Amino acid sequence: MKDIRRSRVKQLIEGAIPAEQQTVDVKGWVRTRRGNKNVQFVALNDGSSIKNIQIVFPLDKFSEEQLKPITTGASLHVQGALVPSQGKGQSVEILAEELEVYGTADPAEYPLQKKGHTLEFLREKAHLRPRTNTFGAVLRIRHALAFAIHNFFNEKGFYYFHTPLITASDCEGAGAMFQVTTLPVKDAPRTEEGDIDYSQDFFGKMAALTVSGQLEGELGATALGNIYTFGPTFRAENSNTPRHLCEFWMIEPEMAFYDIRDNMDLAEEFIKYCVRYALEHCKDDIEFLAQMYDNELVDRLKHVCEEEFVRLTYTEGIEILEQSGQKFEFPVKWGIDLASEHERYLVEKHFRKPVILTDYPKEIKAFYMKLNEDGRTVRAMDVLFPKIGEIIGGSEREESYEKLMKAIEERQIPMKDMWWYLDTRRFGTVPHSGFGLGFERLVLFVTGMQNIRDVIPFPRFPGNCEF
Ligand code: ATP
Ligand code: MN
Repeated sequence: MKDIRRSRVKQLIEGAIPAEQQTVDVKGWVRTRRGNKNVQFVALNDGSSIKNIQIVFPLDKFSEEQLKPITTGASLHVQGALVPSQGKGQSVEILAEELEVYGTADPAEYPLQKKGHTLEFLREKAHLRPRTNTFGAVLRIRHALAFAIHNFFNEKGFYYFHTPLITASDCEGAGAMFQVTTLPVKDAPRTEEGDIDYSQDFFGKMAALTVSGQLEGELGATALGNIYTFGPTFRAENSNTPRHLCEFWMIEPEMAFYDIRDNMDLAEEFIKYCVRYALEHCKDDIEFLAQMYDNELVDRLKHVCEEEFVRLTYTEGIEILEQSGQKFEFPVKWGIDLASEHERYLVEKHFRKPVILTDYPKEIKAFYMKLNEDGRTVRAMDVLFPKIGEIIGGSEREESYEKLMKAIEERQIPMKDMWWYLDTRRFGTVPHSGFGLGFERLVLFVTGMQNIRDVIPFPRFPGNCEF
């Protein structure tokens, strides 16, 4: 092997290195191998692009024996001349001169030996599926979206605020929690009443993984002005749907002095920015997924960037649903929590664009949402998307200490551990707003995938914690 710098496949394919018989060095995994008695063609992928680089092995230079370990999944180091390609499908290829095999992948054992596995099959092979075209594309898009999110908020002067993953508060009511404890499962210490004695637990009280960073986010916003969180959240809900995970990532901006309109404007600008960023930076990957799974994907993404989102109240939304003549699995009437079928009817059938639904009945929303003058609706806003349903949930927050306490009492929420949250309303309270975007729902939308388990490397759902 010569002493030359490695190139990424993406650089070679995109012409960063001129194809003038220059010797290049690549490393990657074999996707396919084909050929005849005179020459063998190997498609090598190193994760930098959906595209492979073709490597040509002339059999007068390499023996059968030398090439034998080159099977799908094997890892190689190759040096050779970068030349314009003779064949169709690629502009350049490498005429191999040197070969080193890092690791073989026995074709009888390697699970991804064949192409065209179902997504269900690949879910069982989550430890290897990043090596497939589909998951490579999804994971590169996921990265780009995460980057776009930080870009967006950083450009707007928002601070990335880190909220704790272990918390002692469960008044969000956003879902069942995973407990965090170091007490022995068997023979946990008991109080005189016979309950588990959490005063002897690690934190001296019952603790759990967070379901949302919002409450702590509000502490950040009422000091720094505008903040956002971006971290994992955990919900022990037993929802086996294509849109729920037990461990998912959430982005939660929280802004002092924003009312619900400012909040809606931000949500719309934010989500359009992310989708546009992906369209600009992940063209090859999006086109690949569109071709494989969803030929309307690119149009749908462009449409979302161009259209103004419809804004209407929950009450107006219910009227439209009632008058639709549509048969829904869950019947519609004022007061119900909208199901995904209702949300998607409004977005996909009625308006044919994203919808921001506001002013929900207070009974179906969280205690911290600002009460409207009518006394029965709150200043909530859900952003509803085609194919997804709810992608963002947010609200203007109740800034009045008295009204907030009343909402807490009405719901009989135990607030003894929440004194620190109430202090935001006791000292220098301000109007403020925020929302939560489920990161995987955004990735789901941008990739056109159908199941949320296919847009995170290692999905957590009931009964699944293998890898
Ligand atoms: P849903 O009604 O869809 O279960 P939610 O109203 O319980 O969602 P929120 O508590 O409002 O969700 O959370 C904010 C955002 O987080 C949602 O708009 C959604 O994008 C996302 N989200 C909520 N629960 C999950 C989950 N289990 N898996 C993945 N994303 C989720
Ligand atoms: Mn919600």
